[in-house]
Amino acid sequence: MDYRGRFAPSPTGRLHFGSLVAALGSWLCARHAGGRWLLRMEDIDPLREAPGAAAAILAALPAFGFVADEPVLYQSQRLAAYDAAFTRLQEAGAVFPCWCSRSDLAAGDGLHRDGRCVAPPDPGRASAWRLRVPDVEIAFDDALQGPQRQNLRESAGDFVIRRVEGLYSYQFACVVDDAFQRITEVVRGCDLLDSTPRQVWLQRLLGLPTPRYLHLPLALDASGAKLSKSTQAHPVDPGDPLPALRRALAFLGLPAADDARDVAALLAQAREHFDPARLPHCSGRSVA
Ligand code: GLU
Repeated sequence: MDYRGRFAPSPTGRLHFGSLVAALGSWLCARHAGGRWLLRMEDIDPLREAPGAAAAILAALPAFGFVADEPVLYQSQRLAAYDAAFTRLQEAGAVFPCWCSRSDLAAGDGLHRDGRCVAPPDPGRASAWRLRVPDVEIAFDDALQGPQRQNLRESAGDFVIRRVEGLYSYQFACVVDDAFQRITEVVRGCDLLDSTPRQVWLQRLLGLPTPRYLHLPLALDASGAKLSKSTQAHPVDPGDPLPALRRALAFLGLPAADDARDVAALLAQAREHFDPARLPHCSGRSVA
C-alpha cells in the first residue's frame, strides 16, 4: 500500500516548537517512505479555537519547507461525514445519551463505566453521547515506542463521542478523517499515545482500517510540562525559520549543520540521514 502520512494541528494557537517537531517528524517519515504528506486542520472545536490560528499555521508551514501533497482537509467542513458515522454507531446501539457532568463523575475516578449514568436522564436538556466501552484490551505495536496495551474500560471508560454542545470529539473526528484521507501511518507526539487505543476501538466499530502508529518524543518545558499552543509556549517564527528548524532537527537526533544556509538545504540533509528506527525513543524530552 502506498504510504500516506499527515500532520493534523488544532488551531488553538500559532505553530509552536512541539507542533513543529510533529510536522517535521511526519514529513520526514512520509518522504523517507516515498509517500504522500497530507494536512488536516482540526478545527472542530470553536470554543478552543484562537482567531486567526488556522491561517497562521497554514501560512507558517511552507516557510519551514512543509508543503502538503493534497488540498488541506478542514474538519469544520466534515460534519456530514461525522453525522453519518455517528448515526451508524447509534443504529448499532454503541452510543448512549448521557447527562452526567464532570462533577457527577468526580465522586468516582472521573471515568464513566458500563453505560451506568450517575445523573438521571433529562430529556428537556441536551445530552452528551458516550460510547459504551466493554472490558476489552487493545494492543498495538508503535513503530517507535514498541508494543502497547491498554484496557479500555479501565483507562478510558465510556468516552464522549459527541459533546453536550453538539460538537464531535477529537477521538471520533480523527478516526473518521484518518480513514477518509486513507492515512497509512500516523506520526504524532507521545501525548496522544494513550488516545490510540480509543481510536483503534472506534476503527473496529466503524469497520475502518487501522493505520500504523509512530509516537514521537514530546517536547517538554523545564518543569516537565508539554509545550502547548494554547498556552502560547515557544511559538516559532516563520519569518526566521532556520533556528527553530535546527532545534527541531536536533530534537529528533538529526544533523542540523551550520553550513546549510536555507530550509531546503537543511531538509535535504535531514532526509539523507533520516532513519525512523533511529529516532529517539523516550516519550518526553525537555527543550527549555
Ligand atoms: N490535533 C491534534 C493536536 O494538535 C493532533 C491530532 C493527531 O495528530 O492525531 O494536538
